[in-house]
Amino acid sequence: MTPGPILIKQCKRCLKSFSESTLGSGNTFGATFWTDGKIEGPMLPDTPDLVKCPHCGQFLWIAKASVVEEIDPFHSGDAWPDIPSYEELTEAEYLEALKMGIAKTKSQQIRTRICAWWKANDPLRDSHSPEQTGHSAATVENMRALFQLLAKEEGDYQRITMAELARELGDFQAAQQILTARFSDDKQDIVRKISELITKRDTRVASLEFD
Ligand SMILES: [Zn+2]
Repeated sequence: MTPGPILIKQCKRCLKSFSESTLGSGNTFGATFWTDGKIEGPMLPDTPDLVKCPHCGQFLWIAKASVVEEIDPFHSGDAWPDIPSYEELTEAEYLEALKMGIAKTKSQQIRTRICAWWKANDPLRDSHSPEQTGHSAATVENMRALFQLLAKEEGDYQRITMAELARELGDFQAAQQILTARFSDDKQDIVRKISELITKRDTRVASLEFD
């Protein structure tokens, strides 16, 4: 992993600054792949698109925030400026942002709904967490809305995500039906994993193991 510059950006509401660490390059070495599409890795950039100002709580698209300064990650000498990082949204905040209409484009809506879904699944990624008792009504509503948005899109990623949403919602027949389509070779591992979980009538998010 090569660190990229640390960007100091400005909140357009309170005009205070926050920082964003960037990567010069990343890779999936040592990463964990999940059936819901999330990839967690030590060498992957993980900046979400929609973040929260650490000072005033404003939701903002981080790519659109203006850069006021770039700091060299290898810089030495002067002390680091004491500027807090942006904050990540919770599931409830992503859903609130959607109600506020902050996601204007379809891709922003899809991305924001996926982030909310991942947040709902995060507590279940720990194998020691208790068995899933079912998603909240708000989570289910978000998953259904995401399914509808993806149904109008084309592509393997969209179809696999729809199958995973249907599986996690307990609609195993719909999930199985979606997976009868042909998928490219690099998608066979995830398709096989989701199919296995459908057979077991398992609705919980799972990690993929590679041989
Ligand atoms: Zn602010």
